[in-house]
Amino acid sequence: MVNSINDVRRDFPILNQRVNDERLAYLDSAATAQRPQPVLKALMHFYEHDNANVHRGVHTLAERATADYEEARQKVQHFINAASPNEIIFTKGCTDGLNLVAATYGEQNIHAGDEIVVSIMEHHSNLVPWQQLAIKKHATLKYIGLTSDGELDMAAARKQITDKTKIVAVTHASNVLGVVNPLKQLAQLAHQHGAVIVGDGAQAVPHMPVDVQNLDVDFYAFSGHKMMSPMGIGVLYGKADLLRTMPPYQYGGEMIGEVHRSQSTWANIPFKFEAGTQNVAGAVGLGAAIDYLQGLGMANVQAHEQSLVNYLLPKLEALPYVTVYGPQNPRHHTGVIAFNLAHLHPHDVATALDMDGVAVRAGHHCAQPLMEELGVVATARASFYIYNNQQDADQLIKAIKETKEFFNGGTF
Ligand code: PLP
Repeated sequence: MVNSINDVRRDFPILNQRVNDERLAYLDSAATAQRPQPVLKALMHFYEHDNANVHRGVHTLAERATADYEEARQKVQHFINAASPNEIIFTKGCTDGLNLVAATYGEQNIHAGDEIVVSIMEHHSNLVPWQQLAIKKHATLKYIGLTSDGELDMAAARKQITDKTKIVAVTHASNVLGVVNPLKQLAQLAHQHGAVIVGDGAQAVPHMPVDVQNLDVDFYAFSGHKMMSPMGIGVLYGKADLLRTMPPYQYGGEMIGEVHRSQSTWANIPFKFEAGTQNVAGAVGLGAAIDYLQGLGMANVQAHEQSLVNYLLPKLEALPYVTVYGPQNPRHHTGVIAFNLAHLHPHDVATALDMDGVAVRAGHHCAQPLMEELGVVATARASFYIYNNQQDADQLIKAIKETKEFFNGGTF
């Protein structure tokens, strides 16, 4: 395993390939990250040595698999500084975790006339569950907008969050604008009004140190696959006192205490929320990804991405035909940069960039209300992770210039 962030690339065999006869510049980690060899090896090891169903077996493999699974839970606990492993629920991913909160806490606590507050920059995963809950319960969904610089408008937040607010659901870092929101301040605001706060950590946990106790969030969800673990595993953090009062999300095996013909009781947290056979290998892979990230140090991960943004953003902004969305100041930017090229459709841009080996995302990024707010239907988006370097940024700029030449002979 590598020791320095500057030589991590060798741990990612997938990056060492040519795409359309060009060096691959993978700039789509906000959609999903690549997996390093230690994570791939941990998966192989689990399936070659320990695979069994967890919690219900007494044989050696079942005990080993259970120990692996619970060790992964503890790694997550320490990684985000939760007070107890019982506050860590394994889910399918961030979307699943957010739906869990809406379907349990939300179902139990939202009544007609209540208000739920989200921001306009939410990913659909942290918007549609609340929108649908509000419709079902005759509650009101309110939005916090943006400042002119593309950051969350905290003055608006102070107006929107009132004593009627029961849930505030805000992303920690935007998957489009590349901003980090002041979740701790929002948590204080929510608590002052007796509301709970739900943080969407999908674009934060992989990229910066996160301390859920310091943030004082009540719930916090994220996905493993954006931080180099397999797909299909994620985490919902919830404060133990809240989790204990909530009804189960799904019913079946694993989540029960006792089952009788006409009644059942539920297991203790976190198992109450983990019905059915779980993604044990996924949890093991997530544990290995956490080890890998901790080996690098999350402050170093954040600084590395920041240095790439500091390098790329001025180069992008210097191109008169490129529009960058979100804060123009690199100090306020995560490794996510959304942009458009003059009047070109972002899908055409992404296809042209792919011809030069550059992988970026194009579309509405599951944030259609934000697209409306920005006055666009879609954008292209480049996103950095630990394995990216200045060569990737240079390749993107070169490919953008070539795209301009290709369309309209560069006349815009
Ligand atoms: N929230 C944000 C901010 C995201 O960027 C994403 C995925 O792109 C999600 C939630 C949903 O994550 P998943 O599809 O892994 O559940």
